[in-house]
Amino acid sequence: MVADRDHRNKPRLAVIGTGIAGLSAAYLLKDKYRVTVFESQARAGMGAHSVDYVSNGITRRIDIPLRIFCHGYYDNLLALYQHIGVEILTSDHAGVFSDEAGRIILHYGNSDWGPGRFPRPKGRSWTSPVAWTIGLQSRRFFARARRDIARTDLAQLSFGEYLDQSGAGRLFVDHVLLPMMSVTCTCDYQAVRDYPADLMLEYLTCGVHEIGIMSAAKGVDDIVPRMLTDVELRTNSPVASIEPAKAQLRLVTGAGEDQCFDQVVVAAQAHQAAAMLSGFDDRRALLNRIPFEKSTMSVHTDPDILPAPADGLSPVSYHVPQGSSRAEVSVNLTKAIPRLSGQETVFQTWNPMRRIAPNRELARVDFTRPTVTRDSRKAVLALREQQTRAGNRLWLCGSYMAEKIPLLEAAVDSSVTVARQLGATIPWSGSITAAD
Ligand SMILES: Cc1cc2nc3c(=O)[nH]c(=O)nc-3n(C[C@H](O)[C@H](O)[C@H](O)COP(=O)(O)OP(=O)(O)OC[C@H]3O[C@@H](n4cnc5c(N)ncnc54)[C@H](O)[C@@H]3O)c2cc1C
Repeated sequence: MVADRDHRNKPRLAVIGTGIAGLSAAYLLKDKYRVTVFESQARAGMGAHSVDYVSNGITRRIDIPLRIFCHGYYDNLLALYQHIGVEILTSDHAGVFSDEAGRIILHYGNSDWGPGRFPRPKGRSWTSPVAWTIGLQSRRFFARARRDIARTDLAQLSFGEYLDQSGAGRLFVDHVLLPMMSVTCTCDYQAVRDYPADLMLEYLTCGVHEIGIMSAAKGVDDIVPRMLTDVELRTNSPVASIEPAKAQLRLVTGAGEDQCFDQVVVAAQAHQAAAMLSGFDDRRALLNRIPFEKSTMSVHTDPDILPAPADGLSPVSYHVPQGSSRAEVSVNLTKAIPRLSGQETVFQTWNPMRRIAPNRELARVDFTRPTVTRDSRKAVLALREQQTRAGNRLWLCGSYMAEKIPLLEAAVDSSVTVARQLGATIPWSGSITAAD
């Protein structure tokens, strides 16, 4: 009873959005506040698009998208997952790159060797001059990037300007690097080139290619409930507006219900957050300076989308037609995720350009995702500065709010920052990198 009364006496806090930013904010703030979480979709956002896949008499749940991460870049995410007990496994993400005619340009696998892994050519790439040239250009690029990361002028350069200045080899840049970063950032090559150079180099030199990729062993359904304990979750509850109401903030949902909260954490994407704000003109203007791109993900069992012969290919297949604005990238989920073994092969294809047999498609989902430019970064700094002002009650978090590529890590980093500003103790404090 006492615990119940204590809980009711806590200040009320709303979290809007249940991507990883909203989930981690709710988790970190639940001890200090009475937390209500609003999500516009029918299920918590991180798992909103998961599908059941039945094959060979086995049913497995597939996350859309598969979310991968690595040591060296994901300090907060890894600390959070470790803290809440999420089991993690390594996942093979070696790749094969093909052109518009389906001809393989480069095919590599990963070999474990000493402290890390190193890519080695596979199949015909052993004897292909193009593949060896790309390998050489890649080595030169990474060696230079590791030196250049210390440069103080990188933040003033776009990644495209950096690539042009550094004389990086065209074969490697056009056929490998831009396709890889277009799927990592789920955007056009031009948007990759527009990223600030320091953000791109920080990611590319973190060791992602040497240390290996990881994923949550049991998927999103194992993660979400761990972060929603002791909070009230309201799904199918899109927030239509947030406005000041004396010493509180009033939230109005799409169904016209309104409630007042002492603090509100908006963990939706920047353009979604801007659409909710009423009476916060300066923040809306700043949020509208953050660009975003749309893309599509298909989960299917159509092997015809891979270069032939499909057997023996590395798990990630990049289709890179000349003149296209982004790559089409398929992951063989059965190879990348051990828990899917025993079933018919299933793929996720980002940006499907070619036809996927409709009877082989399990799901097709449209996503939006922020990108970063030198201008959007200034807008984010101004938004972060506003959150340090005395009496602030409106908090923005999400992958766009950190000084990083908008990946899972940036989202958790932003929640850690907001939770600290709201007086929460970060359980893994000491190992975090978030800047307050
Ligand atoms: C195809 C794809 C693949 C990706 N793969 C990876 C990967 O492998 N590794 C990685 O690190 N990152 C990956 N990312 C990026 C990662 O998904 C994002 O960084 C992460 O989802 C950002 O989390 P977030 O909480 O900031 O935003 P979101 O995940 O976008 O969550 C925002 C939430 O707010 C909800 N919402 C919006 N408006 C309202 C409203 N009005 N009322 C209530 N709720 C609302 C939304 O429904 C959503 O649930 C990928 C992204 C995409 C698109």
